[in-house]
Amino acid sequence: MNLLSFRGGIHPPHSKSMTEHLPVEKALEPETVVIPLQQHIGAPCQAIVEVGEKVKVGQKIGEAGGFVSAPVHSSVSGTVKKIEKRMIINGTGTCVVIESDGLNEIHESVVPKGDVETLEPKEILDIINEAGIVGMGGAGFPTRVKLSPPPDKKIDVLIVNGAECEPYLTADHRLMLETPEDVVYGLRAVMKVLGLEKAYIAIENNKMDAVLSVKEAAKEYPGIQVVTVKTKYPQGGEKQLIYACSQREVPSGALPMDAGAVVSNVATMSAISKAIRTGMPLIERICTVTGDGIVEPKNIMIKNGTRISEIVAQAGGYKGDPGKLILGGPMMGFAQFTDNLPSTKTTSGVLVFTEEQARLPEYNPCIRCGKCVDICPSFVQPFAISAYSLNGMFDMAEKYNAMDCIECGSCSFICPSKRPLLHSIRMAKREIISKRRKTK
Ligand code: SF4
Ligand code: SF4
Repeated sequence: MNLLSFRGGIHPPHSKSMTEHLPVEKALEPETVVIPLQQHIGAPCQAIVEVGEKVKVGQKIGEAGGFVSAPVHSSVSGTVKKIEKRMIINGTGTCVVIESDGLNEIHESVVPKGDVETLEPKEILDIINEAGIVGMGGAGFPTRVKLSPPPDKKIDVLIVNGAECEPYLTADHRLMLETPEDVVYGLRAVMKVLGLEKAYIAIENNKMDAVLSVKEAAKEYPGIQVVTVKTKYPQGGEKQLIYACSQREVPSGALPMDAGAVVSNVATMSAISKAIRTGMPLIERICTVTGDGIVEPKNIMIKNGTRISEIVAQAGGYKGDPGKLILGGPMMGFAQFTDNLPSTKTTSGVLVFTEEQARLPEYNPCIRCGKCVDICPSFVQPFAISAYSLNGMFDMAEKYNAMDCIECGSCSFICPSKRPLLHSIRMAKREIISKRRKTK
């Protein structure tokens, strides 16, 4: 089979067998949820509820705080106990703490919004906006913004990302197996918004059962093409998928829309489908709880704002002392020092390594083998950017296109000298961004 792919990339062990055959379980009802007002790239939301107020499932509790922002909703019915700063995945942020009454009363606003056949594109966009839908595969970019490109950017390639190329994670795989019709329905809605007759759903060839399941769900829609892409990391990167499906390259420093493309995740499509068909905003998602440090790995449907410690407990708890806790996958996820954190719309995985797996190797001098350059999907020179960064020469790192790095971690994975490439490149990017802000 001639599989679609991109230049570069790596083949880390899949490590998906622990959970790929396990149907999604419903999470136990959390007694309290802690809902961050910022769960997306962009401006934080403003709380629109008060301490002591009763709220219901699906009720909006945070209004979008700017153009690039998305509202948040309550995932339980109960009482608002606090609105305060708490630790969240990337630091601290204001959260709405709600004590559940266990009744799961649905808010009056949660009613079916219509049908994709009859809704106008603008109406669909408004539903997506009001439902607080963000990209559920990565950083959580507000979907309404992604689907509203400036008039001079003509979009003609739409790709739904079902690659799930991160090792360990199986949440999207199970979604495509268990509710493929939601993925197709959401995609049809997005095609209508963008005025497109054609779209791709891209799935890696280590998930052939998902390929068949989504093909079956899409068979009545000839404009939807389910494509099998090579199992290779980072196949699910936006630029990599665009190249694989359309052979278009997104230029350095540009966005997918500059290449006429929009890429969105399968879980996002499913959330759009629910928002239209049931009126329920984005308040829950599938999360893979896995790794050798977890007693009973699982795929769980978790409510937004559930404490990570409760999610781990539902998977049997920790096996021994946890060595490392990562939210997301092992390549692009974020290591955490505590499990006393709330889940968000983008918590696709809770991964726990044993102490032995978590031990960082000693690193050695670069031997100029060039492997990191060969596999870099962004075509930069990781060894050079890293060296400049480690020597504080951030201007040089910028000249070597550090900002094109998508932080996939492939270079660190492949390096025989175990150099801290990704860490040092991230540091350079932070410094470059900070310098750009200061000189604005
Ligand atoms: S430099 Fe960035 S994009 Fe290239 S392999 Fe390393 S982490 Fe990935
Ligand atoms: S892979 Fe490691 S050792 Fe090889 S060139 Fe890159 S940084 Fe140097």
